[in-house]
Amino acid sequence: MGNPPVQEQLKMVSLLIQQRKDLQNPLGLYKEILQIQLEIDNTPTKGTNIKCDDQNVVDDLQRKSLDAKKPIIHFLDPHMFNLDVSSKVSKKVVRVLIEQNVNKKGLEKLLSYLESGRLDILKLVEAALREDIVSIGKVAEESGVQPALLLFTVGALIQPCLERIAGKSDPSLLDKWWQATCPVCGRIPAVARLKHNKRYLVCTFCGAEYLSDHFSCVHCGNKDPYTLKYLAVEAQPAFQIDFCTKCKRYIKVINEAKLKDPIPKGLEDILTLNLDFSAKEADLIRETDHSA
Ligand SMILES: [Zn+2]
Ligand SMILES: [Zn+2]
Repeated sequence: MGNPPVQEQLKMVSLLIQQRKDLQNPLGLYKEILQIQLEIDNTPTKGTNIKCDDQNVVDDLQRKSLDAKKPIIHFLDPHMFNLDVSSKVSKKVVRVLIEQNVNKKGLEKLLSYLESGRLDILKLVEAALREDIVSIGKVAEESGVQPALLLFTVGALIQPCLERIAGKSDPSLLDKWWQATCPVCGRIPAVARLKHNKRYLVCTFCGAEYLSDHFSCVHCGNKDPYTLKYLAVEAQPAFQIDFCTKCKRYIKVINEAKLKDPIPKGLEDILTLNLDFSAKEADLIRETDHSA
């Protein structure tokens, strides 16, 4: 169970941009990134040198991941990502980010590093795969770009491949994972879907959905039911915010049974941005995820 193919996501986002005037900016940025990712997704191997959605490859990765209890992303070889595609796409992503006018100076410097070859994009991919915060931090400091934007750029390169891997992962395996971080890409989810009284954590980055312990904070692991609470959202019965009074962090929960219009996969976080405002008002902290 992964996110839909890039082409389909693009169609949905284009439609939603017409309907959701309140979300023009985040949806617009998302659309631009999808347009760039379409180039990756249109290559037969999704921007890699291997067939990353080959069932045997995915099965092997799943086995390693379950044995070591580490997300699949740790077992990917950075050199499986095609250098030409990666460098071309990363420059395009940085250009889109520059247009957003956030951290412009740093991003321009980063772009010049990428253009001159001073920065080895596959080294950066490797750091992202291994969750090597120190290496990411070094590049970020050197170029003066926020680490989150750097991770966003690398994320855009590896996302199509991870979406395919999540799509080929065995659902029963995802149910056996029983950890808060995404079993495929290692990210901490911002959203969950409630289905038949079971809470599934949703990774909007790769599309993995996996069963979670209702009475456990996804951020700090707190299991004390008296300190795990929820916030109802006014006039929106299909949504709630599950939060932990110990770490003050939260997860946005979509109650499928009460949902009027379905929320397309991959868009759960953007389409519930209003919940982040409610959470902020309640003095809760949003976990800064890799993709933000
Ligand atoms: Zn994921
Ligand atoms: Zn907590």
